[in-house]
Amino acid sequence: SWIAKPTGYFDNEIERFMHGLIRRNEGEVVFHQAVREFAESVIPFLSEHQLYRDQYILERMTEPDRIIIFRVTWEDDQGHLRANRAWRVQFNNSIGPYKGGLRFHPSVDQSILKFLGFEQVFKNSLTGLPMGGAKGGSNFNPKGKSDREVMRFCHSLMIELHRHIGPDRDIPAGDIGVGAREISYLFGQYKRLENRWHGALTGKGLSYGGSLVRKEATGYGAVYFVQNMLEHAGIDLAGKKASVSGSGNVALYAIEKLLDLGATVHTASDSGGTIYDRDGIDRDKLAWLIDLKEKRRGRISEYAEQFGAEYRAGENPWSVPCDIALPCATQNELDLNDAKELVKNGLLAISEGANMPTSAEAMHYFLEKDVLFGPAKAANAGGVAVSGLEQSQNSLRISWSREELEGRLQGIMKEIHDKCIVHGQRPGRSVDYKTGANVAGFIKVADAMCGYGAV
Ligand code: GLU
Repeated sequence: SWIAKPTGYFDNEIERFMHGLIRRNEGEVVFHQAVREFAESVIPFLSEHQLYRDQYILERMTEPDRIIIFRVTWEDDQGHLRANRAWRVQFNNSIGPYKGGLRFHPSVDQSILKFLGFEQVFKNSLTGLPMGGAKGGSNFNPKGKSDREVMRFCHSLMIELHRHIGPDRDIPAGDIGVGAREISYLFGQYKRLENRWHGALTGKGLSYGGSLVRKEATGYGAVYFVQNMLEHAGIDLAGKKASVSGSGNVALYAIEKLLDLGATVHTASDSGGTIYDRDGIDRDKLAWLIDLKEKRRGRISEYAEQFGAEYRAGENPWSVPCDIALPCATQNELDLNDAKELVKNGLLAISEGANMPTSAEAMHYFLEKDVLFGPAKAANAGGVAVSGLEQSQNSLRISWSREELEGRLQGIMKEIHDKCIVHGQRPGRSVDYKTGANVAGFIKVADAMCGYGAV
């Protein structure tokens, strides 16, 4: 193995490591992408400091502890039986019980969940809270399904999943396609099957053990992160123009926090297209949009009709000039052409609200051009951080106030930012937050794994 070579590492160590990883995980392209991005930061660091020699550390870290694959049979409203595949990827529990969301989307497959579980390990490490990394979900498509169909699907899924989770074992939460409604169905069934009340899921409703600020946390956190990056570079967020993609939980509350901090926001999107509001999305329009998305489950095009904004069918927001970009939709939603367009239009900073929304080429382009690039592991860690705080509140049998939680979230995002600076300094250039986040997230997990010995 590369790590056992007596004279340290070879120049082409990254390629060599990736060659083995690709062979071991054939065809899993987004997983390869996530690991390569990480290995590019960590292998030079290991090489320079001669750390964790003979530990096989990266090979161990890129292999999930286990993957549970199961069938979910459910009955649709016509009384027909349907079946989907579901997974739970328990990636690494070195620093705490497995923790990470569930995604329901037709694109979900093992490669996507491995990439998400892998990222989650280091994201959770960066929060400073004791949480390992996991991800799960199903190729079930909630779009167009009735509430009762979603309920039957969630209840059926939990019949298998419940035996693999628990507050000291694995704590799922939401992700794309899994929000308050789904978590409620899942938790109700978990509670019934276990015959005990355990905070084994997060993102719960406020009436049954959920935490204030959890719903807003990912979006707020991504904005705090960009605020920290700008502040470190001596730039004020107030008065800046922002583009946001997506219109889910992350996007909506990123928009809210951007408005709180005095920025203007001009875009939002969904899988159908983008709205471009030249006057800016104000608080009233945002309240309408939150209602549209959370209650009516409508499409973003309706915003354009309601407020006379421009609707760009089939397009993403990245051709709209902005100072700050917050991709909050999904993986690889921003490619090299988009990155070039954004930089040409004067982009200062980008904060990844979604997981790996920036393609590898686009990310390298931003770093080369000294754009402040807040990688997902760091920038969107606020969501899982408040999930961690939800668990703490459940264990203590108390509920903290909104002020308390917002203060803690802000503090955690600042700490993550500062951890990234430690290993991301580039003399005479902007901070490389990607390297900083990867190395800082890595060290804590690696220390634990190496401390345990051969486990
Ligand atoms: N799905 C979210 C993420 O990507 C939240 C996970 C959680 O709260 O456990 O971090």
